[in-house]
Amino acid sequence: MDKTTVRLMEEVVLEVLMRRMAVFLAVLIVAPALASAEQNWPGEPVDNHIYMSWAALTQEVNQWSDDNPDIVQLSSIGQSFLGRELWMVVLSDWSMETKANGSAKEIVYIDGGHHGNEYLGTALAWLTAKWYINGWNSQSEEAINVLQNTELHIMIMLNPDGNDFDTRHNQNLTTTANPFASEPVPTGIDLNRNYDHYWDDCSPSDPFAPGTGPFSEPETKANSVYMNTVVQDADLYVTMHTGVWIMLYPWGKWPEQPPDWELFHGIRDEVNAGISDIPIQNANQGLYPNCGTSRDYGYGVMGFPTFTFETDDDQFLPGTFEDVNERLGEELDVMRYLIDNIWYWRARLVVDSLSINDGEVSFTIDNQGRASTQNATLQYVDGDKVLWESDNFIANASSSVSVSSGGFDEAGGEWRLHYQKRAVNSSQWVNESVDRSPDVSTLFSESVETLLWILQAGAIPIFVVAFAFWWSREEKPFDLDDEVPLEAELVE
Ligand SMILES: [Zn+2]
Repeated sequence: MDKTTVRLMEEVVLEVLMRRMAVFLAVLIVAPALASAEQNWPGEPVDNHIYMSWAALTQEVNQWSDDNPDIVQLSSIGQSFLGRELWMVVLSDWSMETKANGSAKEIVYIDGGHHGNEYLGTALAWLTAKWYINGWNSQSEEAINVLQNTELHIMIMLNPDGNDFDTRHNQNLTTTANPFASEPVPTGIDLNRNYDHYWDDCSPSDPFAPGTGPFSEPETKANSVYMNTVVQDADLYVTMHTGVWIMLYPWGKWPEQPPDWELFHGIRDEVNAGISDIPIQNANQGLYPNCGTSRDYGYGVMGFPTFTFETDDDQFLPGTFEDVNERLGEELDVMRYLIDNIWYWRARLVVDSLSINDGEVSFTIDNQGRASTQNATLQYVDGDKVLWESDNFIANASSSVSVSSGGFDEAGGEWRLHYQKRAVNSSQWVNESVDRSPDVSTLFSESVETLLWILQAGAIPIFVVAFAFWWSREEKPFDLDDEVPLEAELVE
């Protein structure tokens, strides 16, 4: 064991002992309520309440990893200001690198605990991970299906220093850290104002401590590096907080609806119709103008469909022994819906028909996703070289569109669809193969058709002459009303 591990274990043991002492009487009183302990908050019975220390979390996630190597990957993506590890739990069925059909697994990104004293937000991140682990082990069809097709990347506690000191901000208390704060004493930095998206551009309406610059803090820096290097393909990002009971989609910066409003409104309507009455609004209107948040960064820079999940109006429930599963059951249902349906949270273009006629390419596109895309093209490519490209077209969410573009005169390539996953400018570009060959009217087949037409047309006068000759020699052979030769009509 290295020194860090020893120190870590000492901290864990000390923490647990102190908590056991502190709540011993309370445990005696409420012990009967702790019967369903396994499902509950880690570290039970001592930590079987809304509050979870970083040390208890450290024990817990290492246990998950030890017990479930088939689905749990645990790593640290960096350290907090005071040197605590930032644990990343990644869940998937690791026996398969891809989905069964060979395509890449969907990517979900979740973080909790930006604000150290918002325990129910951290709890929902923890509970989400735990639900899929338990589900996998109890053969839940839903959990198995998700883990076979999805990677869940879950950062449960981004601000362990603030968590353990029961503060909103991190513990960067150096006097130079926050030149913006009006308080005479350093307050630490509000990590959810420290992101590189219109950083510090909402003050004074948003007077939180944003730090000396974007990503000045080790916690947000680590989170942004992870977003940009590991989960850049994510089609869902949920960042978990506490304060009011609401889900917030972008923007915090502007009151206007985001470009992907259809996607967010569709999710809102489905959640409200069948799962939960939780209000779902854009952050600026639903809460207040805020800048430099992870939500706006996740959407405006990374292009993820992003929600801030505000789990409840309780900031801190010290010493309570409420069952987190019961407390956050409805919120967990919403998370399961968002994760289960991740395939729909982007544009999904499929070529329905494709034909070429005299250099004109006509095609119909079916967008099976719930997000629109506005800069799509159909391409004909040879390796990296684009031989031909259609005009830009828009494919609205859950709709079909027909497009025609001319100038096609190529061979030896393959068809690809090139488009952005969502309407927002920052959203990721994809280039996907088209598993359909065009119905082609080539120059050759057109020539054959023309030749046949000429032959037929040429035959008509010969036939007419022959018929007239024969007619002149005979009595009327049949009643003309019965049958008029088609060819004779054509001559007119
Ligand atoms: Zn918060």
